[in-house]
Amino acid sequence: MTEPTKWVFAFEEGDGKNKKLLGGKGANLCEMTQIGLNVPPGFVITTEACLAYLDMPDRTLPPGVMDQVRDQMAALERKTGKGFGDPDKPLLVSVRSGSAMSMPGMMDTILNLGLNADTLQGEIKATGDPRFGYDSYRRFIQLFGKVALGVPDELFDREFEEVKEHAHAKQDVDLSANDLKEISERFLKVVEEHTGKPFPSDPMQQLEIAVKAVFNSWMGKRAVDYRNQFHITPEMANGTAVNVCTMVFGNRGDDSATGVGFTRNPGTGENELYGEYLINAQGEDVVAGIRTPKPLARLTVEMPEMARQLAELREKLETHYHEVQDFEFTIERGVLYCLQTRNGKMNAAAMVRTSVEMVNEGLISKEQALQRVDPISLEQMLFPRLDPSAKSEPVAEGLPASPGAAAGIAVFDADRAEQLGKDLGQDVILVREETKPEDIHGFFAAKGILTSRGGKTSHAAVVARGMGKPCVAGAEGISVDVTRREAMVGGTSFKEGDLITLDGSNGYVYIGAIPTMDPEFTAELSTLLEWADEAARLEVLANADTPDDARLARKYGATGIGLARTERMFNAVERLPIVIEMIVAETPEQRQAALDELLPLQRKDFRELFEVMAPHPVTIRLLDPPIHEFLPDEHQLERDLADLKVLAQSTRGMTALAGTMGLLHTPENERIAFDDLRHVMDPMMVEEAIAKKETMLRKVRALHETNPMLGHRGVRLGISFPEIYKMQIRAILEAGAECVAAGMDVHPQIKVPQVCTKQELLRVKSYVDEIHAEVEAATGRKVPFKFGTMIEVVRACMRAESLAEEAEFFSFGTNDLTQAVFSFSREDAENKFLPLYNRSHILQDNPFEVLDVKGAGKLMKLAVEWGRSTRPDIHVGICGEHGGHPASISFCDEAGLDYVSCSGPRVPVARLAAAHAALAHKAV
Ligand code: PEP
Ligand code: MG
Repeated sequence: MTEPTKWVFAFEEGDGKNKKLLGGKGANLCEMTQIGLNVPPGFVITTEACLAYLDMPDRTLPPGVMDQVRDQMAALERKTGKGFGDPDKPLLVSVRSGSAMSMPGMMDTILNLGLNADTLQGEIKATGDPRFGYDSYRRFIQLFGKVALGVPDELFDREFEEVKEHAHAKQDVDLSANDLKEISERFLKVVEEHTGKPFPSDPMQQLEIAVKAVFNSWMGKRAVDYRNQFHITPEMANGTAVNVCTMVFGNRGDDSATGVGFTRNPGTGENELYGEYLINAQGEDVVAGIRTPKPLARLTVEMPEMARQLAELREKLETHYHEVQDFEFTIERGVLYCLQTRNGKMNAAAMVRTSVEMVNEGLISKEQALQRVDPISLEQMLFPRLDPSAKSEPVAEGLPASPGAAAGIAVFDADRAEQLGKDLGQDVILVREETKPEDIHGFFAAKGILTSRGGKTSHAAVVARGMGKPCVAGAEGISVDVTRREAMVGGTSFKEGDLITLDGSNGYVYIGAIPTMDPEFTAELSTLLEWADEAARLEVLANADTPDDARLARKYGATGIGLARTERMFNAVERLPIVIEMIVAETPEQRQAALDELLPLQRKDFRELFEVMAPHPVTIRLLDPPIHEFLPDEHQLERDLADLKVLAQSTRGMTALAGTMGLLHTPENERIAFDDLRHVMDPMMVEEAIAKKETMLRKVRALHETNPMLGHRGVRLGISFPEIYKMQIRAILEAGAECVAAGMDVHPQIKVPQVCTKQELLRVKSYVDEIHAEVEAATGRKVPFKFGTMIEVVRACMRAESLAEEAEFFSFGTNDLTQAVFSFSREDAENKFLPLYNRSHILQDNPFEVLDVKGAGKLMKLAVEWGRSTRPDIHVGICGEHGGHPASISFCDEAGLDYVSCSGPRVPVARLAAAHAALAHKAV
């Protein structure tokens, strides 16, 4: 004979680990009971019973369920010495739903089940408190009526308000026992009128109705919608359990209380009991905020014995759960009960501190310490945040493109940002439609950047992230008018000089200055990250372009630079004219002259990077972007030329006038003044300016490309204009030689962008070899270096086997690679169709943020495999934006990469994520 199904488990017998069967809450109540915490006695009806019930055609409980419930109720009666339905010593219970995952939308809790006209009198006798009795009764009728019988709340509320009015009671607490009695009677009538049946008075019948109502709520619209919305599959949670628990009351007098506690301070992580309580109150009163709870420290004075027991409870919870607990308790007539406990939610600083301290206390292992901290949450400790107590409504929302918060005055161009920010020391926010490389000095001067166009990999976003400055990008609700130095947002606007605040962590923009809180890179965070490095397999390098970026990256623990974008170095205000000279040069000699000026500047850039990073590697990428990015705008040039031509006519007129002056007998002093004026407006100078602008315009037109991101850039540029790459290669190797001469241990790495064939690498390598030999011969120093390639076009992945013949390292440029794999233009995708794609689940994530493991990732895996088949020790990493994203880092670990490289301020996040990845992959 097969054993009858066990549908019901007492808290003493249920498996505390089996959330699937008992639901999260039920499993927890079992576990708490079994480790000896004083949980009020109770039992759990399983999720299997729920599923079986939902399958029953007539929606009756499956055979055996109610028999087992009755047995358990009998056991509860034995344990409590009370009787279910016993008018002398009534046993009351609470009924709660609870599935494997916490899920709002399911049934609310029913309290005080078991009350009826008779047991109510017993309860009044037992407590000697009629007011308490009627108050419990009316609460029970309303909750049961609403939750189990579907009576609308408004019907109860109407009656309640009427009685309150007759009684001239301002607040609920002003109602007398008699008022509450009247309310209970009216409530019973409401139920009868609405359901057509009297309110069930048999406690066992009440319980059966409640159990069915909980089960039905699993298929209720709210719960189904919630599961759909959050992709909760049957594997994750299937059916709900029902928890039946003996009622305990914290409102039985001055020896009773209710409260909530944290085993450690969730705000700071300090190892102290933290929480609050109310004497003679129910949980509801704490939540309702009618009375102000007292801090738990006060309990030591008011109830010393209870405080001692609470300290013991705290100890037990932590030693059992090995985690900070957030628990609820009730004291009923001097007896402490623990009603619930769960892992405490804390801010990042508290998580980090408790992690380190719990390891030091022997409570958890280093691995557990690492695993309990969410890598992304570390951003809270690295960037300023808005003061959470400051309440303000955002006026616009854009993409959270670079974390942190900043307040300052709005400025609408980079020069003004520099004037007001750098020169006058004001806090400024640079507001642009979108930013360009030539705005770089504005970035340096600004506290934050706001753009109305562009995505998370737009220029503004990438540069701001690299600098660790907050950025809100693509705030399309804002229309920026640069000429009027004004921005319109909905019905309002802000002008240059008006204060605004950005929160780059959520993309919100506020008008006015909101106070910010400083970041806190604590000693505990350093310790935790050292443990992360011990556990991780992936190295974490940084994307850094300037010595300041490099210093920040070092401070955050990067073990090298994985990507230095040299184009950023070309954009400095004093260099741009030389760069333009280099581009518009008509002859190789003219170009060489400009390059000769740039060489010492670049050599100094590289030397500084090597010095900051020594002895770690510094990977320098040769020039990548289309060169027209450095040139002035075509339309602006046309306007300038038109103006200059008008001016040329005027100056010619003035020359003619000067020639006629003799005939006009103009007085001597006026003639001198006129001559001075003519000097300034020299027609030759104007003609020269016109010639220069015309050359520039010709060049700009000649260099115009329809699709520059797929055009003349990267290695293609380096092969068309070899002198540019040669200058950069020389600067790298000469800087290396200088460092070697100074006794430094430096490791330059030269990286070629946009490569699609080995022939390109061979060509650039030939420049490198030639210059390397020259530098070594000239300086007499051995300069170590490595030569490698970006892998950022599809063909590079497909030809990885061949590229590895020349490249000593691969660096996946997943920004471009994603663009190439999807054939999405990254700038257009992120603010046009991607949000819609994400909202409608056509694409789960933004692939420019979260690495597309299924597509781009698959290619990467193949490229790694093929690259290693040629060169087994090839060093492989990623330097696209995904290199700082935890889930993408996990993929990189799994795919066997050697390193990830991300912006400096992301390095701590990446170090922890790399540890998580290694631990997760070790576990399988
Ligand atoms: C990339 O494409 O991933 C990359 C790092 O290069 P960039 O973003 O500079 O094009
Ligand atoms: Mg790229």
